[in-house]
Amino acid sequence: MYIPAAIQAKEDYQACIQFHGHTCMGVTIGYQAAKLGMKLLGEMRAVDEELIVIVETDACCCDAIQVLTGCTFGKGNFFYLDYGKMAFTFASRTTEQGVRLVLKPEIFQIPEREKALAEKIAAHNVSIAEQKEYEKIYEARGEEFFSRGPEAFFDIEPITDLNLPPKAPRAPSIACDICGEMVMKTKLTERGGHLVCRGCQD
Ligand SMILES: [Zn+2]
Ligand SMILES: [Zn+2]
Repeated sequence: MYIPAAIQAKEDYQACIQFHGHTCMGVTIGYQAAKLGMKLLGEMRAVDEELIVIVETDACCCDAIQVLTGCTFGKGNFFYLDYGKMAFTFASRTTEQGVRLVLKPEIFQIPEREKALAEKIAAHNVSIAEQKEYEKIYEARGEEFFSRGPEAFFDIEPITDLNLPPKAPRAPSIACDICGEMVMKTKLTERGGHLVCRGCQD
């Protein structure tokens, strides 16, 4: 989908692009999801673990969500479910409120005329008039969607039975009895009187 220049010019959008590496629809969807999720929860960017995110995909959108929400892989408040769904849950540990956003099916649907013209362009079989017509439809559809705000992109499900994942565990490190490397204590397994790391078990 066409991404309007007004969105691309925003400073926080540029921060997402810088982190992700390129502009794409995926990162833009993540940007919209994070904006809407935080707005619905009345939350600011997470300094520590007050906000959590659960993503159900590992696509481009996850990078923008980490940048905007401050929920990151490293902080342990960013959780991944391998469901292959464009669905994102935002939840607050402070208010115990949560919301799940699911990308609307219509976002995946391209109008017939746009699709037909796109096929002609791909086959290098397009007149100048058709090329212009395509650009007009493509840009108008993007402008129209984005003008309606992030709400236009997602179905919103408030979460009533909020069951938050536990906070990131903290444990001292001790040496593995086989390789001697320091390992977080909770990740060691006892084997015949020895504490063994997961690398040595494998
Ligand atoms: Zn991307
Ligand atoms: Zn080891």
